[in-house]
Amino acid sequence: MKLDDGDVLVAHLGMSGQLLRAKSTREAMPKHTHVVITFTQGGQLRFVDPRTFGEMFVTSVVDLADVEELAHLGIDPLETAMSWEVFGRLVAERAQKLKALLMDQTFLAGIGNLYSDEILFTAGLRWDRMSDSLSTQEVRRLYRAIIEVLQEAVKHRGSSLADEQYVDVFGRPGEYQEHHKVYAREGEACRRCRRPVVRRRVGNRSTYLCEACQV
Ligand SMILES: [Zn+2]
Repeated sequence: MKLDDGDVLVAHLGMSGQLLRAKSTREAMPKHTHVVITFTQGGQLRFVDPRTFGEMFVTSVVDLADVEELAHLGIDPLETAMSWEVFGRLVAERAQKLKALLMDQTFLAGIGNLYSDEILFTAGLRWDRMSDSLSTQEVRRLYRAIIEVLQEAVKHRGSSLADEQYVDVFGRPGEYQEHHKVYAREGEACRRCRRPVVRRRVGNRSTYLCEACQV
């Protein structure tokens, strides 16, 4: 977040952080509020973080490049436009399983377990396909699916799961979970072919997919 004096405020939500807007300073302070920013125009922005894995700091634009926490971050697919040819080259160079590659923060920033499953379903690709085995068509489908799924998710203000951990800055849960095609839909009908969505244990996390629609 750019500040008036040119410096930058950096926030990392970690596992459980929330940034919440309060209309007035009189609004009750939530438990585990660690940072309070009071606006001259009124109201506050509060950083609430029960598990304290998050962080917040101010730095200059010049020093931003040297911030260790940011230096390893890969491309933000919605901020950095590239051709699917360039994307295809990057994907092939990595030679990794697709789900692991999508979740690799040094490759793409911000994609986790949920969105990687949704992207791979949308692209019609399995989580364990090797990234250097994709045809030209498949590279295009994967690239398009990344942009499409993230844009839709932003439009519906993100996904709030049963734990309601994620809420927007006004404290409202997101609505993208109502549009999930595979994530947390084990046993329910695939939205494309009506066969049941399956859950696979990969590492110590769940992967949801349709065995018929994803190759
Ligand atoms: Zn299907």
